[in-house]
Amino acid sequence: MKKLFIVANWKMNGNKISNEQLVNYINEKVYENPNIEVIICPPFTYLTQILKLKATRIKVGAQNISESQNGAFTGEISGSMLQDMNIDYVIIGHSERRQMYSDTNTIIAQKFELAHQNNLIPILCVGESLNERKTGQTISVVESQIKSVIESTCIELFTKSIIAYEPVWAIGTGETASSEQAEEVHFNIRSILKEYDLNIATSIPILYGGSVNGANSKDLFTMGNINGGLIGGASLNGEEFVKIYQAAERLTNE
Ligand code: PEP
Repeated sequence: MKKLFIVANWKMNGNKISNEQLVNYINEKVYENPNIEVIICPPFTYLTQILKLKATRIKVGAQNISESQNGAFTGEISGSMLQDMNIDYVIIGHSERRQMYSDTNTIIAQKFELAHQNNLIPILCVGESLNERKTGQTISVVESQIKSVIESTCIELFTKSIIAYEPVWAIGTGETASSEQAEEVHFNIRSILKEYDLNIATSIPILYGGSVNGANSKDLFTMGNINGGLIGGASLNGEEFVKIYQAAERLTNE
């Protein structure tokens, strides 16, 4: 039985009242299941609120960390601060950070390494733009995103990491990669990792992200190389998010 990860990326959304309603709803509907890990990644300001509200079976992640350990970096949040707050996971290299905040492959590798130094499990996002897909560059783009992290750090760090394949054209657009398209890329990601370490290549969780919802999640999660989803828009709607979780639950019960 493969383990499935259902990760909510709230991005810059929510407030104290809506967060409380959403987490209370999720607490009610998400059960203890050794084969499913539900992770909520709220904005930094609400990490403490969510840590207090969430049931113990739910984990909390941040959406970013600084590429520096500490010091004069106004407005930044370090990995050691997140560790201090008992945060378990951190999203790194989300395409919105790559596109809007100049997170280059080099910076992403630094963040990945600092996440590990501070006992955070990184969820490393990779994925191609629409133009890159149309021009047949999907695998080479994903390959260079992954290899740049491996070569600036080391493959062993991937023993305790998660990869999220998020085609940029599918994020927040309502357009999802078909389960076959996603599976093909996930298969290729494992092949890239096999060049370094067979065991890591077969065991690392690879999540799909890009307009996952209650209706398409089952088909995606059924694919052999897909280990769950990184969910943006649909994670802000309790009912939709729980439908995604329930699709995972049904598969783990089959
Ligand atoms: C995301 O932001 O990681 C994401 C996949 O967003 P959405 O589900 O809205 O496409």
